[in-house]
Amino acid sequence: MKFNATSIQQHQAARLLTNHYRLTRENILGDGLKLCRRAKAHNSSNPKTAYIAVQQHQDGYMAKMHDVAHCGNAHLCAFCAGVKAAHMRDWVSQVFLPEIKKRGLVAGLLTLTAHHQRESDWSAFVKNLYGALEALGKTMQRDLKAIGSIGRVRGMESPVGSNGLHIHIHDLLTYKPGADIEALRKVILTKWKAALRKFGLHCSKRGVDIKADGAFDPRYVAKEVAAHGTKNESKSDLETLFQLLDKSARGNKQAGRDWIRAARAIQGRDRWNVGRLAIKLGIPCPSDWKKSDVVSTADPAPLQLIEYPQSHHMIATSPNNERAGLAFILRSARNEPLRPGSVLRMVSRVCDETIKADIELIKQKHAHKLANSLRGSMTADERNKLAGKQFSHCTFAIAEYRATTYGYMYPAQTSSVPVSPAFMPTISPNLELDFA
Ligand SMILES: [Zn+2]
Repeated sequence: MKFNATSIQQHQAARLLTNHYRLTRENILGDGLKLCRRAKAHNSSNPKTAYIAVQQHQDGYMAKMHDVAHCGNAHLCAFCAGVKAAHMRDWVSQVFLPEIKKRGLVAGLLTLTAHHQRESDWSAFVKNLYGALEALGKTMQRDLKAIGSIGRVRGMESPVGSNGLHIHIHDLLTYKPGADIEALRKVILTKWKAALRKFGLHCSKRGVDIKADGAFDPRYVAKEVAAHGTKNESKSDLETLFQLLDKSARGNKQAGRDWIRAARAIQGRDRWNVGRLAIKLGIPCPSDWKKSDVVSTADPAPLQLIEYPQSHHMIATSPNNERAGLAFILRSARNEPLRPGSVLRMVSRVCDETIKADIELIKQKHAHKLANSLRGSMTADERNKLAGKQFSHCTFAIAEYRATTYGYMYPAQTSSVPVSPAFMPTISPNLELDFA
């Protein structure tokens, strides 16, 4: 079930970003997720073929795209966030914690928050919060040295609630056992308040929280809290960006708007950051660290490798399709061992849906244009003329779209594509002008 959920969240994110771009012509950093698990891996030796690897696990078959590109966006992409959170958690428990233990250090969890409200510019809020963080970092240096700290592993979380974007920073702070953590909390609170004030923000006494070593799970910083929202903050109404995507996919418009607002505000910020800590400790930083092959040998060899044309994969998983093509294809791949042919049938069905959706978009675009050109005062005759002209432009655009798509999907058979005028969908200026 979780596999489907991830694909649906990813698809919904791609739809929201695509729609945002369509309306504003603005790209949000991280929109590479529109191609995540769709485009081929950049070093693929089979760029024209899509592959799905089906594996047998104890609780049934599992299917995953093989030889595909990953966007690596740990804030917005449900798939990459899950993979990266697991990697980060392993790095913390297998590399970072053993190394600080060797050096006689422990780790505490420092959490920083600030007062925020829904009716504000979320991007400005994030910018100011990061400004305050930098200022705090400078004023804190001596205090951190005093507790024997040599640095921190930083994680950022960005859930949204009725008060808007609730950015909070988690620092896994190294220190010498026995340091006075409560005294440190008081010092940090004073300095955090001062730093926030400089940037027009403020916090209550709950703006700083420190849990000492032993009072929390140190892998918390990288736990999949952001990926699948298992956090038990029962009193709050906070939702992770992925939970917003779930709601948005079920038709909740507000959730979609909040998601875009949050995505714009946090763009370019690191989900995790270890600063110079890895260098100081002489350990690989998370992005350089590869897990030993203990993990990869635990991954069973694929039982089956299903293949189909890459162009079909791209069309089937297009964000223009209302439904999450990838979720349907991977589900059918789990049925493939028992019902051969499931994947190919599903891919062709989802391609059809995308093509219909694309044609619908072309029609909408032309109907919009027509609506705009009909705004001035004109005679019925002039109106009819304009409508006729727009109709023929639209018909031509659809025919062109069909030919291009057909040529892309079946490159061997391109020459002339028969497009019967009977298949041409019509636009009716009276019926399709209103796109609320
Ligand atoms: Zn991704």
